[in-house]
Amino acid sequence: MTNTNAQTPRIAIVGSGFAGLGAAVSLKRQGFDNIVIFEKASDVGGVWRDNDYPGAACDVQSYLYSFSFAPNSQWGNTFARQSEIYAYLRKVAVDFDLLPHIRFNTSVDAARWDAGRSIWRLDTAGGVTEVEHLIVATGALSEPAIPNLKGIEQFNGEVFHSARWNHSFDLEGKRVVVVGTGASAIQFVPAIQPKVDHLTLFQRTAPWVLPRHDRPIGSVERTLMGTVPLLQQAERARIYVQREMAVLGFRNPLLMRIGEFQAKRHLRDQVADPELRAKLTPDYRLGCKRILISNEYLRSLDRPNADVVTSGIREVTADGVIDNDGVLHPADAIILGTGFKTARLPLTDAIEVDGRTMGETFGKSPRAYLGTSVAGYPNVYLMHGPNIGLGHTSVIQMFESQVNYIVDAISHAASQNAGAIEPTAEAQEQFGQLVDRLTEGSVWTSGGCDSWYLDQTGRNSNLWPGTTFDFSARSKRFRADDHVLTPAKVAS
Ligand SMILES: Cc1cc2nc3c(=O)[nH]c(=O)nc-3n(C[C@H](O)[C@H](O)[C@H](O)COP(=O)(O)OP(=O)(O)OC[C@H]3O[C@@H](n4cnc5c(N)ncnc54)[C@H](O)[C@@H]3O)c2cc1C
Repeated sequence: MTNTNAQTPRIAIVGSGFAGLGAAVSLKRQGFDNIVIFEKASDVGGVWRDNDYPGAACDVQSYLYSFSFAPNSQWGNTFARQSEIYAYLRKVAVDFDLLPHIRFNTSVDAARWDAGRSIWRLDTAGGVTEVEHLIVATGALSEPAIPNLKGIEQFNGEVFHSARWNHSFDLEGKRVVVVGTGASAIQFVPAIQPKVDHLTLFQRTAPWVLPRHDRPIGSVERTLMGTVPLLQQAERARIYVQREMAVLGFRNPLLMRIGEFQAKRHLRDQVADPELRAKLTPDYRLGCKRILISNEYLRSLDRPNADVVTSGIREVTADGVIDNDGVLHPADAIILGTGFKTARLPLTDAIEVDGRTMGETFGKSPRAYLGTSVAGYPNVYLMHGPNIGLGHTSVIQMFESQVNYIVDAISHAASQNAGAIEPTAEAQEQFGQLVDRLTEGSVWTSGGCDSWYLDQTGRNSNLWPGTTFDFSARSKRFRADDHVLTPAKVAS
């Protein structure tokens, strides 16, 4: 649906990462150009601006981990590094003329729905702004999770989170404790291990690690990809289809044994010490937590200057970290690879209708229609909302599908001269039931692990458990019957 209404509604987008920029481009292309983008930081890029730790890179091939409307033939590697992805997003903002729409250094702190006027009132760091539609693109992985380590305040050394890397602290020759073994840690651990005096890794859960089939992209290939766009489209399609097949494994956990076999062989190839290998062997089904890829991580832990501690942290002292066996691990720095606050999409606790926040409505298990709109909360859309995350492929596929739905919803409201649109509670419930059905028996619930994919109630409210192809088809078919419209108020 394209906007054919002479009056374009005012639309606010909060956040300028992949989701916010992608939404803005698609809305502008459909004729909705009355857009303001609020960004609390001083630049676009989201996680790719913030996560500049050594070794940071994507773990989905870049020909796919990029917008379909902005192909890039100049990736330096099949899995691009953080600096390239950050530069790509800055270029998208320039090429699609988004910068004039962005208010940098301006956080949105609260949003209240004025039902009498069908308007969202936004409290921002730059004052109050009123808009008809609100798109929340604040990122599911944008707020670092800082563990509450007993005694951390007495530590004499440096402490920082991987998403806020302290580049002015020189790690050369230092004793470093790393906490966590998630997607970020497995990238920065091998990058820092060769330069530190000693690295102690505190591991709660061993991740499954598969080889990373990365390679530099030479100038000939880059030129070809740039001059024959069809080539890049074909490569993107190939990667897309290959990754979609993985859903079969997530939904049929026994198939994951094939991947486990590969991962165990990879571990044997990389780690000679059998005791260490035992520590690094996961005790749950592959895919239950995020599958990680690296050619260096496991090997870097089998070096003389590295130790893996699995007993947990008892406390931090002035000189280092004491594990649960009472052993002190002296440290000059503690690096937290402890991931992000994932229980809530930032801002949802400050989006209010009739005095009730969206966070309160979500309770312990958030639900949204197509992971995007919420019954009782008109004219607001969550990018990376409940069940938008993915375990197998690029989340940008999901963002582009979400925006198709958002454009249709806004267009439908405008074409019916409605002031407000929201999903019906029944339609939202049906979507929730679909998610539950697709999740049943999957590796996420039967794989024998605790993961952030499952919420406090044990329900999958984070991942889309189907193919992105299926989600895209559902997002393209706008169902007017699934929505309630409120007539626009006539100005008196
Ligand atoms: C290190 C790392 C690697 C990743 N690699 C991959 C990968 O390989 N493949 C994949 O599919 N996914 C990956 N992801 C997941 C990643 O989160 C998404 O791919 C995507 O980049 C998220 O984009 P986003 O726009 O939703 O959120 P973000 O990139 O987090 O952007 C949110 C933006 O909103 C701003 N913001 C937040 N709150 C406010 C507020 N109140 N007011 C104003 N502005 C606000 C933030 O400053 C930020 O700029 C990775 C994540 C991380 C952290």
